[in-house]
Amino acid sequence: MAAFREHITFSSLLGIGYGIASCTVLGFTPTQGALAGWLTGIAGMLPDLDSESGRPKRELFSVVAAIAPMFLVHHVLRWLQLPYDAETILLTMILLYIGVRFGLSEVVNRLSVHRGMFHSLPALVIAADIAYLGYPGRTVGSKLLMAGGVAVGFLSHLVLDEVYSVQLSGMAVRLKKSAGSALKLVGPSFMPNIVTFSLCGTLTYAVLTQMGVLDRPTGEPGRVLQQADERAREAERALVPR
Ligand SMILES: [Zn+2]
Repeated sequence: MAAFREHITFSSLLGIGYGIASCTVLGFTPTQGALAGWLTGIAGMLPDLDSESGRPKRELFSVVAAIAPMFLVHHVLRWLQLPYDAETILLTMILLYIGVRFGLSEVVNRLSVHRGMFHSLPALVIAADIAYLGYPGRTVGSKLLMAGGVAVGFLSHLVLDEVYSVQLSGMAVRLKKSAGSALKLVGPSFMPNIVTFSLCGTLTYAVLTQMGVLDRPTGEPGRVLQQADERAREAERALVPR
């Protein structure tokens, strides 16, 4: 597998490209592009959250713990119907920081096996879904941009891990034992697969609903009722002699 530094270098380069392309080609603002590029770079270390060496985990949880409270505080205050004053906001943010920094990292520690389902395509979708749902921008386009950045960074990690599992010795190409374990859909054990796929399905459903792809109020039931009504009136007219 590739080392932490290689992953972060590769995803950061991709992030720079992604950020530049998003403002030059796709017409996003430079700040949106910079943010998307940064997310791409960070996402390059996401899959190694399960690794035994503490580096990616430590780096990532400090970043996430610092940023997540800003995204979450408004939602939490609204859900719990708490007052919107400076003290409550600050205290909620501190509690969220502690929760992510220590609570969430402990949960991840307990759940993960290295090269388990964190290194998989459904995990990539989960990460992108979380970025979509968590990004506070108002437009679908900007949310997709951030989710896309996370997906690109995550994918770069999986691809690099696969590249590193091909061993070149002289003319012979040998596959390491880890080959094929990064870019996978399902893992060898049952429960992690179930958990990953349920999470992936639920979050994707939430994203599609928010995008208006599912549950779009098309007035469809109304039209069906109207048609039924018309048919009934026709039938009535046919029955009643004039
Ligand atoms: Zn990895």
